[in-house]
Amino acid sequence: MNTAIKEHFRFVLEDDNELMSAALDKYSDLDDENKRMNRELIKKHEQILAKLDKNKQLSQEDFQLVRDANQIHLNDAEELYGHHKQATELESWLDNMIELSKDEAMRILEKHLDKDPKTPAQVYRALHTLWEEATPDDAVREAGFDNEGKCLKCGSKVSFADVTDTVVFVGDEIVKRYDGDITNRNCIRCTYPKQYPDYEEYDVGEDE
Ligand SMILES: [Zn+2]
Repeated sequence: MNTAIKEHFRFVLEDDNELMSAALDKYSDLDDENKRMNRELIKKHEQILAKLDKNKQLSQEDFQLVRDANQIHLNDAEELYGHHKQATELESWLDNMIELSKDEAMRILEKHLDKDPKTPAQVYRALHTLWEEATPDDAVREAGFDNEGKCLKCGSKVSFADVTDTVVFVGDEIVKRYDGDITNRNCIRCTYPKQYPDYEEYDVGEDE
């Protein structure tokens, strides 16, 4: 941690503690529950400051608390409190220290791949394979298709999809079927490029 980062790190914790302490005095209209939470957070911030003094290893929770306390300065784009620049630097520094969730990691990769128009479809395919493996309920949650069912990446309208119908069995016999939802929908051109030529004709004439 360089000196400037360390200084701002300390500043955001002390500043937040000052604000919270002020809200604890007898004229404060905070309710007891909020006062209790303030006291607890002040204590945690003090523990982080103590660790910082002794050059002790900080935990992921510590980093998260510092990120929370830094938020007010990060949002202060008009420099009302004069610490926006340092807050931005601290935020990027924290970006490198705070563990990424799988979801965040995938999003970062995809964002960077999107910047290069030459990124081959195969690379997205690899990314999405990893993504599906990383999220056990195989939810790549963001919409991959526009409301006409066209792939948002390549514009193709041909996709493979699973449809989960609910069926009523009586013994071995299906007596009723409720139409289900489309799940696991994948653009064929992006996700299964080798199979795409078999379906390409459905896209012909779609270009405006
Ligand atoms: Zn596509």
